[in-house]
Amino acid sequence: MEVFAEKFDDIKILRFEVPGFEELDLNKKLFIYHLSQATLAGRDILFDQHGKYNLLLRDILEAIYQSTENKVGEDWKQFTNYLKKVWFASGPHHHYSTDKFKPGFSEDFFYTQLNQLNSGDSGLTEKHLNKDTIKVIERLIFDETFMGKRVNFRADEDLIQTSSNNFYDGVSQSEVEAFYAKQKTDSDNKKLSFGLNSRLVKDGNEVKEEVYKIGGKYGEAITQIHQHLAQAIKYAENKTQKDVIQLLMDFYETGDLERFDEFCIQWVSALDGDVDFINGFIETYGDPLGMKATWEGVVQLVDEEETKKAEIIAENALWFEQNSTTDKAYKKDEIKGVTLKAISAVAVGGDCYPASPLGINLPNAEWIREEYGSKSVTLTNISNAHHKASLSSGFAEEFTLTAEEVELEKKYGAVSDNLHTHLHECVGHGSGKLMPGVTSDALKNYASVIEETRADLCGLYFMYDAKMLELGLLPHLDAAKAHYNGYIRNGLLTQITRIKLGDDIEQAHMRNRQLIAAWVFAAGNGEVVEKIIENGKTFFRINDFTKLRDLFGVLLKEIQRIKSEGDVKAAQNIVETYGVKINQQLHSEVLKRFKKLQVPPFTGFLNPNFTLVQKDGNISDVVMDYKTDYAEQMLKYSKEYGNLQRE
Ligand code: ZN
Repeated sequence: MEVFAEKFDDIKILRFEVPGFEELDLNKKLFIYHLSQATLAGRDILFDQHGKYNLLLRDILEAIYQSTENKVGEDWKQFTNYLKKVWFASGPHHHYSTDKFKPGFSEDFFYTQLNQLNSGDSGLTEKHLNKDTIKVIERLIFDETFMGKRVNFRADEDLIQTSSNNFYDGVSQSEVEAFYAKQKTDSDNKKLSFGLNSRLVKDGNEVKEEVYKIGGKYGEAITQIHQHLAQAIKYAENKTQKDVIQLLMDFYETGDLERFDEFCIQWVSALDGDVDFINGFIETYGDPLGMKATWEGVVQLVDEEETKKAEIIAENALWFEQNSTTDKAYKKDEIKGVTLKAISAVAVGGDCYPASPLGINLPNAEWIREEYGSKSVTLTNISNAHHKASLSSGFAEEFTLTAEEVELEKKYGAVSDNLHTHLHECVGHGSGKLMPGVTSDALKNYASVIEETRADLCGLYFMYDAKMLELGLLPHLDAAKAHYNGYIRNGLLTQITRIKLGDDIEQAHMRNRQLIAAWVFAAGNGEVVEKIIENGKTFFRINDFTKLRDLFGVLLKEIQRIKSEGDVKAAQNIVETYGVKINQQLHSEVLKRFKKLQVPPFTGFLNPNFTLVQKDGNISDVVMDYKTDYAEQMLKYSKEYGNLQRE
């Protein structure tokens, strides 16, 4: 299977493999098949949540794309590019920045194409083609000021009215806040995730909720999801899974948030079986007020080999705690059960498609996490695909000094990355304790950077430990060397390719990576890690891996102290000194080198196709294949899962 599918604009599209699928028995394959259908059936919901005209826009663009005969010229190329981006972002706003795309084609071109459409064959209706709709779509594509930003976080503005998403219609921020304050006051259960699964609209003078459920908002799509879940439940591996699916179906029938919490609690405890899934209104990043959730789905098949490694780490969690460099006063006496699974994604949908996450930790409700725990999964086949793609891009060669280092990366990069993730999640986030009187918000806006720094340092420190060989987690300590090389290279050079010249680093993970790399560079006096300039290009070379490991240990000790003591001054000092600013000269050099490689910074994934095989009137197998390209898959999904009324 070819991992790389295509690239356009700032995006590359990859395929992921699903190891072990073929060997599954028919029951499990059918379980996965129906869960996958339930994952794909919610696609239109996300388009509509991202903007109320997005489905009309998609229909019109697709009709033009499919019926145009003369597919040549710059306008056509730009038009195709635009449609591919709309598919990727489930709307006309960039998935990451949420700024509106600029079309590279002209209004003339758009209208010429539109007028050539034969309305009979195009699939478009009167609703699409009436004057008012076309005018709105024209503005959506060409007028920068119209619905310009999907999610606006600028604190001095009305966040609801300046965000063009479709979670709210006709209401102001203060009306939204008042509505949910009252809902909470009136409710007997204050723990509910108020507003999670609804759209808030103004009806005359009244503010009211349109709840996402069967018979309610998005009812047609939710009905389809529900039907596929009803099929899937027949093939569940055990009773707990059946209960989980039943609770989710109840939730989709009623829209009742209490059902959703019951579902989450049951879902957390469903640990047995090879197959698991995420399906529902989950993440709230798309709402500036953080209440309304976008729809998403993931079907997961356990990656046994990697999960075994994660379990070994979890079993030895106390050993790691006792053997880390942190002060004894800050260590935990016992480590409670951590649920960590490595999985292969089998199908991704909604807000996880095509841009898939690498790891997921759910549920989001803090009280459920505290009382019942959470499930943490790493998507190993997704990270492996990322890794494979990066090896063929010339990226490693450009930023490494020697061929030997590239070889190490190719040989061990994937295995050590996965191990780092397990150590980070389990040993890192699971370790350490706060001193009495210190609360988890003591470090304020530095809390998440310090926490991620701490987790990464645990991964780095133990990676180069003989214990890794003893536990069978690494084939050779060279794998740890490959990881150290990669970490330093990323922290000091390659990650800043994602940042515009002149900007600071803002994202917590990026800050923590630069903080660690820059701190050990300074603490080792430029000798342990050495800066080398060759032919005008900057590289970093590790001269002494043992000493570097010791430095990671020293920094870990200090970061743990900062967290345990809630020392916000020290947190601010270390983050601002090492994690935020970028050397402008180096940044400009790195951006130039990166531009030459033409590697898109964002990645998305195609799903494999699933086909039911019939034999003598019965289903005898589920076959998986990768025979699809990006546009083909998108058009197929629009046709098969285009289940919402166009309003
Ligand atoms: Zn983390």
